[in-house]
Amino acid sequence: MFAEVAFPIRSFQTFTYSIPTEHMSVIDIGTRVSVPFRNKIIQGIVVNIKKKKSYLGSTKRIIEPIDKVQVITPPLWELINWVSKYYMTPIGKVANSVVPKSLSSSYKPQLEKYVKARRKVNLKKVSKLKKTAPKQYLVFKTISEKNIICKISSFQKIVSNPLQICISLKNKGLIKLIKKTKLPDFNQSIFEPVFKDIVFNNDQKLVISKIISSLKKNIFNSFLLHGVTGSGKTEIYIEAVRYCLSQKRNSIILLPEISLTPQIAGRFRAVFGDIVAIWHSKLKGSHRSWTWRKICIGDFKIVIGARSAVFSPLKNIGLIIVDEEQESSFYQDAKEPRYHARDVALMRGSFEKSTVIVASATPSLESFYNFQQKKIKYLRLPKRFGNAKYPEVHIVDMLSNQKETSKFDQVISGLLQDKMEEKLNKNEQIILIQNRRGFSPTVKCNDCGAHIMCNQCKIALTYHKNEDKLICHFCSFFVMKNMLTCQECSNPNLIYSGTGTQKVEQLIKETFPKSKICRLDMDTSKSNLGLTSILKSFSNQEFDILIGTQMVAKGLDFPNATLVGIINADLGLYLPDFRATEKVFQLIYQASGRSGRSTKKGEVVIQTYSPNSPVIKNAKNLNIAKFYEVELLEREELNYPPYSWLAKVEFVGPNRLKIFSLIEKFKHNLKGVYTGLDILGPAPCFLEKLKNNYRFQIVFKSKKHFDPNGIYLHNFINKNFKNYNNKKLLGQNKINIYFDPISLI
Ligand SMILES: [Zn+2]
Ligand SMILES: [Zn+2]
Repeated sequence: MFAEVAFPIRSFQTFTYSIPTEHMSVIDIGTRVSVPFRNKIIQGIVVNIKKKKSYLGSTKRIIEPIDKVQVITPPLWELINWVSKYYMTPIGKVANSVVPKSLSSSYKPQLEKYVKARRKVNLKKVSKLKKTAPKQYLVFKTISEKNIICKISSFQKIVSNPLQICISLKNKGLIKLIKKTKLPDFNQSIFEPVFKDIVFNNDQKLVISKIISSLKKNIFNSFLLHGVTGSGKTEIYIEAVRYCLSQKRNSIILLPEISLTPQIAGRFRAVFGDIVAIWHSKLKGSHRSWTWRKICIGDFKIVIGARSAVFSPLKNIGLIIVDEEQESSFYQDAKEPRYHARDVALMRGSFEKSTVIVASATPSLESFYNFQQKKIKYLRLPKRFGNAKYPEVHIVDMLSNQKETSKFDQVISGLLQDKMEEKLNKNEQIILIQNRRGFSPTVKCNDCGAHIMCNQCKIALTYHKNEDKLICHFCSFFVMKNMLTCQECSNPNLIYSGTGTQKVEQLIKETFPKSKICRLDMDTSKSNLGLTSILKSFSNQEFDILIGTQMVAKGLDFPNATLVGIINADLGLYLPDFRATEKVFQLIYQASGRSGRSTKKGEVVIQTYSPNSPVIKNAKNLNIAKFYEVELLEREELNYPPYSWLAKVEFVGPNRLKIFSLIEKFKHNLKGVYTGLDILGPAPCFLEKLKNNYRFQIVFKSKKHFDPNGIYLHNFINKNFKNYNNKKLLGQNKINIYFDPISLI
């Protein structure tokens, strides 16, 4: 017998090996094997098994299979194949992103000791305890009041020897001792488990019943769950997962960025305990392979993770949830396979016969359109959970504000400042969003006006005051401020302008010197620990004001935060991308959702230079229906998704002229152009030079009216690009192909 083996290489070619008799029973399609390849031993994946080989030469033998258990189930294999075909990526590369590179691991997690109060206790014993052993009584009281499992070490705050005390309490029959595995990365990346008693409202009950009746059927079914911010979507997820477990089926929950949603992970962990695995890119080697193997052997029943969790080797999947499905972080665009995890989740659901829920407060236009076209079922949660009210939204026209006050470059308007003062006086919390990190994003020469740019990229450097350097936000190239002169005329006299989060922080410190301020952006959150501890501290009200980039606008739940200020809502509005307005709308809408999530009334202040822009207006009124109406009309006119299929083909190389003439040549030789296909470009990419490589792109739009399933476009791209993307033909240059790209810049 012979096996076709694929490797994680640029080419689509596969290689034939013979299967040794002793491994015949184990090796199947999807098995990972180690094989000799060009004088090395490397790993590959079996993509086909044949009785005869297709050519006459000699073949090498497979050395051995790598996994002892079945790693890739038939539906997961189908998915890998689909991703390989749809996103035009060699199957070895797709498989490589599904299976962690190193699975050898001696990692064993530690055990932690927990306690829980017994349901029925002898009350006489308790009152005796109060007199004879006050410390024991204190600990017991805390445990029974909390009514959840508590970590023994957490009582160190009240007694010096918690373990001994807990053992005495256990011997008296008052509490239970429980040992739990300390899951890798859990304590750093999630909040403490939160237990809530939930009473569902009628909307929620209806949504849950629809999901449960779908789960009962064991068929593929997809829903768009459109729930306003604060409508209790997490509670719905928990109910759905609970039902799924009762049917002995497993669940995957995809979150846009796991580290930004520690609260959701904490909720799941509180409800379901040890069967919840967390999967994200920050998991370190040994933790990663330990978690992965436990998922393979079925110890975990629920996987919560970022986009790559869509490929987790979970078996028998009943339910897949994609939370905040509109988020662009679900699209992996930096490396192959370049895929959209939401779309892959829907596909996996169809192979696994599961129920798939894509959920959002601001569904993407694609998902909303799919609902209009009846391709996905619609579930609505129109009301905020509990008695939470919608926030009151104020718009500040920064231009007329400037005229009135004659203060140019004013960062905080009078209105925002007044509102902040008011909230601080009431001991309520404030969130300020400025979607740009650093101190000054614009640095110009005072003499010749030239912008200070990165040496390796065509990107302006941003001044970071804390480090006193200018940094490229793409490649991390930096120059110390005191070393810097104009790159054109060597003049050392430079102007620093524009506003980043560091500048906002400094201004707020000057304006409200007594307030406690924290900042959350890529700089302060580099480690997972930094991020979680900032969020935790803000949640515990150790800070009054949280300043951050769009990172703070999403999914978080701070009941005491009653004011959200958006410093400059126009950032991003005029980017040359068809999704620019959608993103700005989502940011404002989501940010408003952070305000007033409990009984206290929330307020939002949006500062803008474009107060009459329909996007800003609709966002102010939280009028999502109107926004969809306007935006869909515009997309239809311009033939952009959801009315067309989109593919972006990007040429990358170190020599600008060569890469341009290469892309011109491809454009000139395009074969099989058809009705309904629009070709834009070639044109330089918005970020034309990155890390010393020049980038040009051609964009293809294929009208759904002519090409309902996108097959024409796929065939067209296949024919014109697939077989040319190799080293022999392109040398140092590369072609990157993006299907359904999330942006054109
Ligand atoms: Zn100059
Ligand atoms: Zn750079």
